[in-house]
Amino acid sequence: AHKILIIGGVGGGATVAAQIRRNDKESEIILFDKGSYISFSNCGMPYYIGDTVEERDQLLYPEAKFAEKYNLVIRTNTEVVSIDRDRKTIIYKDTAGNHKESYDKLILSPGASAATPPIEGLNADRTFPLHTIPDMDAIHSFIKRNKPKTAAIVGAGFIGLEMVENLHALGLNCTMIDRSEQVIKLVDSDMGSIVQKHLNDKGVTVILNDGLDYYSDEGKRLHLNSGEVIDADMTIMAVGIKPNTKLAIESSLKLGDTGAVFVNEFMQTTDPAIYALGDVVETKDLITETPRHIALAWPAHRQAFIIASHLNGERIPYKGTLGSAILKVFDLTVGAAGHNSASLKKLGIPFKEAVIESYSHVRYYPGSDKLWIKILFDEESGRLYGAHTVGFEGVDKRLAVLSTAISAKLNVADLPELELAYAPPYSNAKDPINILGYKASAMLK
Ligand code: FAD
Repeated sequence: AHKILIIGGVGGGATVAAQIRRNDKESEIILFDKGSYISFSNCGMPYYIGDTVEERDQLLYPEAKFAEKYNLVIRTNTEVVSIDRDRKTIIYKDTAGNHKESYDKLILSPGASAATPPIEGLNADRTFPLHTIPDMDAIHSFIKRNKPKTAAIVGAGFIGLEMVENLHALGLNCTMIDRSEQVIKLVDSDMGSIVQKHLNDKGVTVILNDGLDYYSDEGKRLHLNSGEVIDADMTIMAVGIKPNTKLAIESSLKLGDTGAVFVNEFMQTTDPAIYALGDVVETKDLITETPRHIALAWPAHRQAFIIASHLNGERIPYKGTLGSAILKVFDLTVGAAGHNSASLKKLGIPFKEAVIESYSHVRYYPGSDKLWIKILFDEESGRLYGAHTVGFEGVDKRLAVLSTAISAKLNVADLPELELAYAPPYSNAKDPINILGYKASAMLK
């Protein structure tokens, strides 16, 4: 039996605690979180703000219930402030002061923090990141109390886009601002422009190639780099995240090329008694094996399993991250797996691309609507590097199939052979993925 300390009690931390307990009834487990909540659903927060999720409690896991179910000690409102690797102890801080705790194994899952660029004139009472339950509560109560009519959303990534939809649902007039030339850089620009058009159709103003320079008028007036001025009662700041590497740096654990914590295939840091997982770690790209930092829930959950297995004496490697991601933008669903054109170019990997504009299922059956699928692949081997899907229906299914195909190292010539099941409400006798496969196969050298 070990004494296992876990830093961070949400996506990775709570999951690894539960996973360890499945195999190991003996070890002492202590879970620390500097916040007041453990095992909450970050991913559900935009939908609570937008009233799609009605009860705040639906996003939370009661601490006492978790502690009892998994027989562990939970210390919330407790920040771990340092690690002494030689003595195998940590120092943590709570309202009573600083305390020491020893460990046999230490697991780091401190996640990431929302980037908060210093912007002149920013008024924190009406400018909000969204990363924690207190962030969510602040947005929720600001809206209830102040009844804002307009919102600016800075950053057109997945959190920004989910917030636009949810604020719009509450009747706010939204303006989205991003300094790059497209929304949702996860996908290529041709797919991003479909999303942008949909935002415009919904009445959202999208300003690209422009950034927030400074605020005036107590944080209600946004001055953009171009000189354009936007008035907004509130701002959502969703300009990215930074992994919480402070503890790792201070205890001289190696960071990887992306600036996140370096780990081996069993999620051990450069100190074998210390594991790390989730948004704080760098893993390998599943396809190219190059360093990759992906902050999503699936990797954190899989890594939790890898760590629990390793502590149990099983050597199951973490194979790498594909970065499969999906999000809802009003009536559209946008998905991506693997690489986009920009990341392949950056890696110097030559590729071909094939795109299809199709329908979710046969036209005559109700609900049929447009579906776009794009794949990136190697011109010689046909190996799939990435897939992007956008549409109104059946988008998640196509993304799941293509994610599986990429993981299984299928190539474009395998896609026409996939027997994906057909009846009019679901597809066509030839699924759009099959058709795209024929199209891409014809492009092979
Ligand atoms: P977290 O879950 O963030 O947990 C880290 C915890 O560590 C925090 O509670 C923090 O308080 C604590 N902590 C940090 N430092 C210390 C310390 N020194 N001492 C004690 N405690 C500490 N992913 C998806 O796959 N799909 C989605 O739809 C999706 N939606 C999201 C929506 C939002 C608004 C956000 C913010 C994230 C979303 N994610 C989504 C990402 C997903 O939530 C994260 O990838 C996942 O939670 C990562 O788990 P983690 O354990 O690394 O970090």
